[in-house]
Amino acid sequence: MSDAPDRLWIANAWVDAADGATFDTINPATGEVIASVAEAKSADVDRAVQAARDAATGKAWRAMNPHKRSRLLWKLADAIEANADELGALETADNGKPYFEARKVDLPSVVENFRYFAGMADKIHGATIPVAGPFLNYTLREPVGVVGIITPWNFPLSLASWKVAPALATGNTVVLKPAEQTPLTALRLGELAAEVGFPEGVLNVVPGYGETAGAALVRHPDVDAIAFTGSTQVGKIVMRDAAETLKKVSLELGGKSPNVVFADADLKAAVRGASTGIFYGKGEVCAAGSRVLVQRDVYDDFVEQFAGRAEKMTVGDPMDENTRLGAIVSEEQLERVLGYIQKGKDEGARLVAGGERTDVDGKGNFVTATVFADVEPGMTIAQEEIFGPVAAVIPFDDIDDAIRKANDTIYGLASGVWTRDVGTAHRMAAEIKAGTVWVNTYNQYDSASPFGGYKQSGFGRDLGWESALDKYTQVKSVWVALDR
Ligand code: NAD
Repeated sequence: MSDAPDRLWIANAWVDAADGATFDTINPATGEVIASVAEAKSADVDRAVQAARDAATGKAWRAMNPHKRSRLLWKLADAIEANADELGALETADNGKPYFEARKVDLPSVVENFRYFAGMADKIHGATIPVAGPFLNYTLREPVGVVGIITPWNFPLSLASWKVAPALATGNTVVLKPAEQTPLTALRLGELAAEVGFPEGVLNVVPGYGETAGAALVRHPDVDAIAFTGSTQVGKIVMRDAAETLKKVSLELGGKSPNVVFADADLKAAVRGASTGIFYGKGEVCAAGSRVLVQRDVYDDFVEQFAGRAEKMTVGDPMDENTRLGAIVSEEQLERVLGYIQKGKDEGARLVAGGERTDVDGKGNFVTATVFADVEPGMTIAQEEIFGPVAAVIPFDDIDDAIRKANDTIYGLASGVWTRDVGTAHRMAAEIKAGTVWVNTYNQYDSASPFGGYKQSGFGRDLGWESALDKYTQVKSVWVALDR
């Protein structure tokens, strides 16, 4: 893939890093280098922020009428759609996910996100407020300014679109720092934005490492807001670093989401839902249903069926359409996942499926779909985010026990409930402390529905109308005296 994007994208142009540094991005399914990409450090971040600031204050973007801004976003959606095969292949090469997932799930959602937020661009307005006294009071809803966006490697383009589309729709300019493991589709997004007519500096893309490029963006005095998706550990650093300049911060962080199966559920559907809940995207999904809570009455039956399904998850070449489990994104992540599998065994959980490293033609970072049963809520694999295809099955007695166990974590990102009882479903929906509850389904997303965390899964919401207003606009109150 020698034509993969490989430099920084600043002010609608490809540029080398100031110090000429580069880093390799590797295909985790083969170990091969896909491209050597320019590595941004603080001087490059300065340059990108300056370009974004110039665009935020310059006429071309600031004075662009909102209908035109809307059309540009729509055109970008069209361009992404027209290039979806190429973008899907880049995503698969960079991340290791099955091409089927990249092309048929991620890419269509990226296109929808840009279209949804295109529709928002010309419908943002303030209000007139009936205040006491002889005054006209009204509000202006203004862009925040320059938004720094930092994204992880698991859904590189999709998660970038969750933030880039609403940030641009609301009139901001953006410096996007994609994860170092998966920078290619973000770079291509910058190029496509220029091709459809976004003015120079509106969208800049600076691949690099977190501690250098990411931290420089967060600390930069001329960046007005940081929208971050990543681990809880790094989220805490981001919040501390942003405090120095008191910029607006939103954090979409990790999870250890419960998928709760009651005895009255359609068991077959629940097994299927638990399986996609943890194995979709190799379990490298922030909302992965990594804790499967099962009522004791159906526990043995469930474990047997769930393990059987895990055994059928085909590990293979991500470009092969029969592959269900692709390659783990990096060697480092692979070691992490294997370390947790070992910990599960050491702490006494019962391994009922998978648990092994494997390869495809002697290459790649592959792990089989893994299920641990009889997991105690206090075990490491029930508490820490593994971010791999490893499920922890935990039995429970009744609804009170289910609520207690579901909430027994520092995280609160997502959850699933499987039951035919409408009362149980709604009680669980109210009691679970998480930003999303899926009932008799799992992993549903829509551009219009807010997504984000409770507790240490962060704050702020992606997707949806209000989330975008909250994150990417600020309100100005204007008072006009009417009696002089
Ligand atoms: P990570 O936190 O290691 O990295 C995320 C991004 O932050 C990367 O771009 C990285 O370069 C950057 N970064 C690292 N250190 C930084 C620093 N000091 N300052 C600024 N930026 C820094 O996460 P990851 O391993 O790439 O992704 C996996 C994590 O992301 C998981 O915890 C997962 O749950 C979470 N995630 C959350 C959501 C959500 O919507 N809540 C979605 C996807 C992933």
